Amino acid sequence: MNKTNIVLFGPPGAGKGTQSAFLVERYGLEHLSTGDLLRGEIKRGTELGLRAQELMSAGELVPDVVVVGMIRNRLRERPDAKGFIFDGFPRTIAQAEALDSTLKALGTEITVMLSLEVEEEELVKRLLGRGATSGREDDRSEEVVRKRIKEYHDKTAPLKGYYDAQGKLRPIDGMGGIAAITARLVEAIG
Ligand code: AMP
Repeated sequence: MNKTNIVLFGPPGAGKGTQSAFLVERYGLEHLSTGDLLRGEIKRGTELGLRAQELMSAGELVPDVVVVGMIRNRLRERPDAKGFIFDGFPRTIAQAEALDSTLKALGTEITVMLSLEVEEEELVKRLLGRGATSGREDDRSEEVVRKRIKEYHDKTAPLKGYYDAQGKLRPIDGMGGIAAITARLVEAIG
């Protein structure tokens, strides 16, 4: 079966979660957000959640083995899915390599990486704005928000080169209104 597997990429505050909801609806794909999965673990008070919480509230990445394990389990649980939207995963080259080999073992692969491009000051504004109402601790402090953006530049942005080398990178202008950005994503998916 040919699945559509989309990496929805971009820095924190780029709109990955918001846009995922539209794409899930439109294309009938499964949403896989490692941030949501980790927050679920924290809410349930699991050991994994307790260990991740400290790193997350400092704006640092959790270890690759943790998120790779969570994603592998979800992929294996849904063999009949039409495809997946990966939101906030992969965030390191090691995660991308693990994802490629897991998908390959399941007889599929990444279709495209849609990379939302947003200016840094706009990200800080959006995240702190969200923090006022979302209850997300890591959105409330400017220091943590800037640390998350730095982690993105240091460890995550290099993934654009990784997918570009596979001919799968599609940069998308992530500035402006939500509907306009959705329209750009839909056009890129084709
Ligand atoms: P997010 O909801 O995607 O913004 O993720 C919130 C936090 O969860 C991040 O700042 C990281 O601490 C952690 N996290 C989420 N996804 C990953 C990932 N793929 N690799 C490492 N850490 C992650």
